[in-house]
Amino acid sequence: MITLGIESSCDETGIALYQTGRGLLAHALHTQIAMHSEYGGVVPELASRDHVQRAIPLIRQVMQDANLTFEQLDAIAYTQGPGLGGALLVGASVANSLAFALDIPTIGIHHLEGHLLSPLLSDPAPEFPFVALLVSGGHTQLMRVDGVGRYELLGETVDDAAGEAFDKSAKLLGLGYPGGPALAKLATSGRPGLYKLPRPMLHSGNLDFSFSGLKTAVLTLVRQNELDEQTRADIAYATQEAIIDVLAHKARAALVKTGLSQLVVAGGVGANQMLRQRLSEDIGRRGGCVFYPDLEFCTDNGAMIAFAGALRLSEGQGTKDYRFNVKPRWNLEEFA
Ligand code: ATP
Ligand code: FE
Ligand code: MG
Repeated sequence: MITLGIESSCDETGIALYQTGRGLLAHALHTQIAMHSEYGGVVPELASRDHVQRAIPLIRQVMQDANLTFEQLDAIAYTQGPGLGGALLVGASVANSLAFALDIPTIGIHHLEGHLLSPLLSDPAPEFPFVALLVSGGHTQLMRVDGVGRYELLGETVDDAAGEAFDKSAKLLGLGYPGGPALAKLATSGRPGLYKLPRPMLHSGNLDFSFSGLKTAVLTLVRQNELDEQTRADIAYATQEAIIDVLAHKARAALVKTGLSQLVVAGGVGANQMLRQRLSEDIGRRGGCVFYPDLEFCTDNGAMIAFAGALRLSEGQGTKDYRFNVKPRWNLEEFA
């Protein structure tokens, strides 16, 4: 069964083809980062317009790359939410119109389920059950995953997401958008131990996070210091270290609490090399195992949507009722 996947929830148009039993056939991505960077963040209307222009050419491209004709498609999966309403509508309408024309089913996928299952696309892949640390631009959650659609929220951020903490701190340090990768890069020339930043809720006794105080602390450092290149790098180092410290501590606690040994890291912040190193060390030392999506599948992409769609379709889900709606706000647990 061949599933076309369409992701358009934010600033990336991601298209992919997944064949059940065979794997990923082709995938393509267009990122709008350059377009939004002059505004310092995503401009929703510009995002929607760009998805309109990119979706069809990218679909043609993956079909050609996989050497397929449209008649060979069995189903279309698209991101139904959460995300920007206008941007989601583009992917949903392309998916449903194309599927209507081809007389094949569609399935709406929860964007976070895509992120959550994306490590299963890698080799070696984890096996259910596992704990997932979902760290993206909009979310920071620990989930127990027992199977497709069987998710239990163990803890989450009470304010900013980890990616947001990276992005906002980066902005304070005068770095461009998106700040995460830029801050991580700057931190490589930073020196450890020069600045101490708070680790909110580290010992809260639960699996929740809080990151909004961190940006205030970074702001204070930025105001108190002469910001030469080395100081900026030192502050970047301290910021990254504080975020990673909390993530690693809570991820480990989640494994202890559930008694599980596999940790899966998903979402854009999962691309962070220092986080990967720290988690592998901490959890490896305790006999656990950490799985990451391939770097290109950490941030938004079509592959994770095609894959999640294929898994759900193989369980008999999907519909040929082409009336669709999108869900800009959508709880993952509601979906399970
Ligand atoms: P959501 O999935 O919650 O709707 P999103 O789709 O915007 O949000 P992703 O695309 O998964 O999130 O990830 C983007 C986030 O990842 C941004 O906040 C970005 O700064 C962060 N990020 C990407 N690479 C790195 C890195 N190497 N280090 C730290 N953060 C990173
Ligand atoms: Fe995302
Ligand atoms: Mg993105």
